[in-house]
Amino acid sequence: MKIAVMKERREHERRVAATPETVKKFIGLGFRVAVEMGAGEASRISDADYIAAGATIETDLAVLLGDANIVLKVQRPLLASEVLAGEGKVDELAYFKRGAILLAILSPYANTAAIYAYAAADVTAISLEFVPRITRAQSMDVLSSQSNLAGYRAVIEAIHVFDRAMPMMMTAAGTIAPARVMVLGAGVAGLQAIATAKRLGAVVSATDVRAASKEQVESLGGKFVMVESEEVANAETSGGYAKEMSDDYKRRQAELVAETLKKQDIAICTALIPGRRAPVLINDEMVYSMRPGSVIVDLAAEQGGNCSLTKPGEVVEVNGVSIIGVLNIPSRLSTDASALYAKNLLNYLMPHVHPETHAFKLNWHDEIVLASSLTHAGEIIHPTFKH
Ligand code: NAD
Repeated sequence: MKIAVMKERREHERRVAATPETVKKFIGLGFRVAVEMGAGEASRISDADYIAAGATIETDLAVLLGDANIVLKVQRPLLASEVLAGEGKVDELAYFKRGAILLAILSPYANTAAIYAYAAADVTAISLEFVPRITRAQSMDVLSSQSNLAGYRAVIEAIHVFDRAMPMMMTAAGTIAPARVMVLGAGVAGLQAIATAKRLGAVVSATDVRAASKEQVESLGGKFVMVESEEVANAETSGGYAKEMSDDYKRRQAELVAETLKKQDIAICTALIPGRRAPVLINDEMVYSMRPGSVIVDLAAEQGGNCSLTKPGEVVEVNGVSIIGVLNIPSRLSTDASALYAKNLLNYLMPHVHPETHAFKLNWHDEIVLASSLTHAGEIIHPTFKH
């Protein structure tokens, strides 16, 4: 059984899907591992590190992928259509062996056409963001491992452009008031942003539609602000995700956010609804109500943004307020993000290796495999996407 680890060709992607540590573990489990030359460079892993762990290095995609049973990637492979549109240079999927298993963050809601391409290429496409949020799958949960880093880094990005200090400082020359930070969306990224801002001495408040997050915010020392409504009891799906709220709830939430936001220095936006555009929680008027020098970091930029004035991939200044539409923030911490992501992949595959014979076979009765597989044997099998 051969595992291939590809170099990421998409713009702004600095992570890699395997580290020397996971390569060593895969080899111990009986796999052969081939890594594309330079795959780990942006995560500070050299080809020599992979070789020392037991991998071979390949320069030719046809050799790397032609006989690979499993392909490990971070982002979805480039397709012929994207190569023509100038997004990349190589039609990566064309090199996959028929029957190969692909593990990556495939963003299927935003890329439904790609799902047909995986099926047509007879690739078993596993979309890691669909791994269910169950206890057994925690060690495979790429959304958690990457969002946690994203929440931390969002605060750091904010500080970088904020021209004041975060903690309260009492000095002989005068007292500096602590910065006030509001976190919108208290999931994995939001909770880490709260913890990071608190550690830096800020006064932190947070909001979410899921009542369960109140206790978590408060345990980190944040103040929880939330619309009191019966709707909140139903705001969470069985998977723990938020639902889209009613127009009446949205109006009341907007009033609450408007009232809180004008007293804040920094807003960290993390609110997402799976498969939907991110909810707009900060409108133009609210941005104008913030003091010049304030900062908004919008982690939801890729899904349309929680702030109406966010420009994905750009930093814009509106009335003195910097709005950072950061994309792929975990990639900015590529070394740690790759290490955790690579471990998630190892943990996903490990249960499917026979402990004695080392034979690898995906268990199609496993709810984790069923929930995360988009295609198999030339068909779209995921209930959300098959017709
Ligand atoms: P996410 O990235 O989908 O969304 C981020 C946050 O935004 C969520 O807390 C969500 O409730 C919030 N949000 C959505 N719409 C909002 C709105 N209109 N206003 C304010 N907030 C809004 O969420 P996530 O970080 O992936 O976490 C989703 C759930 O999964 C949480 O319940 C989390 O505790 C749970 N989780 C479970 C496990 C596990 O058990 N293995 C692991 C990680 C996360």
